[in-house]
Amino acid sequence: MHKNREFAPGFATLLGYMIGDTKAQIDILLSDVRRDIDVSTQRRIYCNRNIKMQGIELIGWDMDYTLALYHQERLENLSINLTLQKLIANHGYPEEILELKFNPDLAIRGIVIDCPNGNVFKMDRHGYIGRVFHGTSELSSELRDKQYRSKKIRLSSDRYRWIDTLFGLPDAVMYMTMVDWVDGREKTPDYLKLFWDIRKSIDEAHRDDTLKTVIKREMPDYVHKDPGLAEMLHKFRSSGKKQFLLTNSYWLYTNEVMKYLLDGERKAYGSWRNYFDFIIVGGSKPGFFNDRKPFLEVDTETGETIGEGAKELRGDKVYQGGNIRDFEVMTKVRGEQVLYVGDHIYGDMIRLKKSRGWRTAMVLQELDDENSTSDRFASKIKDLRAIDRRRRNLESEIDYQVLLLKQIQRLLDTSEESLLERLALAKEEARLELDGLRSRSKVMLQEVIGLEKSIDRAYNLRWGAMFREGNETSRFGNQVADYADLYTSKASNFLSYSPLRYFRAPRKVMPHEL
Ligand code: IMP
Ligand code: MG
Repeated sequence: MHKNREFAPGFATLLGYMIGDTKAQIDILLSDVRRDIDVSTQRRIYCNRNIKMQGIELIGWDMDYTLALYHQERLENLSINLTLQKLIANHGYPEEILELKFNPDLAIRGIVIDCPNGNVFKMDRHGYIGRVFHGTSELSSELRDKQYRSKKIRLSSDRYRWIDTLFGLPDAVMYMTMVDWVDGREKTPDYLKLFWDIRKSIDEAHRDDTLKTVIKREMPDYVHKDPGLAEMLHKFRSSGKKQFLLTNSYWLYTNEVMKYLLDGERKAYGSWRNYFDFIIVGGSKPGFFNDRKPFLEVDTETGETIGEGAKELRGDKVYQGGNIRDFEVMTKVRGEQVLYVGDHIYGDMIRLKKSRGWRTAMVLQELDDENSTSDRFASKIKDLRAIDRRRRNLESEIDYQVLLLKQIQRLLDTSEESLLERLALAKEEARLELDGLRSRSKVMLQEVIGLEKSIDRAYNLRWGAMFREGNETSRFGNQVADYADLYTSKASNFLSYSPLRYFRAPRKVMPHEL
């Protein structure tokens, strides 16, 4: 007897009939249905848009923050220390900046730097600015409204910098801390110059290899070795899918990181390169999706490029640059048959979705922390929803009483003498009722605000949850919903699902359907 009636052979036959599948595929599907039920929150993959993995022929992987997850606080400290040295050496900053304390909690993904004004803010999905910090101090709601609510914010303007990758967090942490510092020493601080001095120095630290030299030397301190990664890639390969690596990192660094992650993990593979059918480094995403750069072969000894541009992509070669159009022609796979897994909304997701129709999955390292905070505060969140619902009902009652009072007043103005006394009494009663309702609503509102604040602060003291702003989805959350078909906290979470899995999005409802 089957332990679970759902998985009896009859179900398998029916499923096979419905999807017109082979027996082997049905077996994989069924084993997965069983497994899915037990997938823990930390291993779960969330679906915004249905994907049948069965139809995916080629899976592309980004490297940094996708296959290679970094120890965020250590990498941020390293990045900040190297940037401080560059600010002193190349931009004339005094040595005293070495004494500043840079708190990593100052920034989360999805916040926006208003470069000329020393401010950083967070938006909801409608572009409404929920909170603003000048340096590390929150602006009052009056100041926020005065500066940001009278006109539409165009994030595409040079004035703003959207922090949508974990590599961008040090920019925001340094900017906020140093805005406080310049405010304390200059009469008319030049916040825009400060922003660009920091940006250029961080950029340099990435480009001149000072950052990567340290990471390569002390790899285990900076890169998490995910024990499920090799098995996950193997599982996709053995299900018949092709895979490629497409990273913006260059060959010499990519090779070191990938060796650390995969070499020696599964004997049959030998080198990490054997997990992938194509390897593309220095991809310049999002340029890879927009421009027409050639695929240049890389000399794997020196990291230098060779020749003019490849006419075919070979599995035993490494390429630098390239572009999506030639990639689709040379691999003969396109659009909906390709799934690209990355971590960067702008670099990895948006152009792909807008122009080529590739399917996308996003790795969001912070998701585990957000989920565990939501779990810890589950009963408070439930209380909040209940009080908020009661308060909304109370507001309807208040509206009703206000209307009633108005109508009584109209009658008082037009009725004959004999009715006035009774109407005055009714008016008094309605007013008392209204006062009572209003004071209850006030108390409830305070309760809602208090609960909202304590929940919000548990995610991040200043910014709250990454995916929410007030009652709304945050702008970042909305971009994830729009551009990532799937999202999860780490690449190896695919291991918990079948390579033929049909990921289904929950049914979306509009307010009138609730
Ligand atoms: P990915 O593998 O496509 O995610 O590419 C990440 C690469 O971009 C890494 O090599 C980073 O060092 C690099 N990177 C991140 N931020 C910057 C920057 O500000 N300037 C230059 N390179 C950066
Ligand atoms: Mg990346």
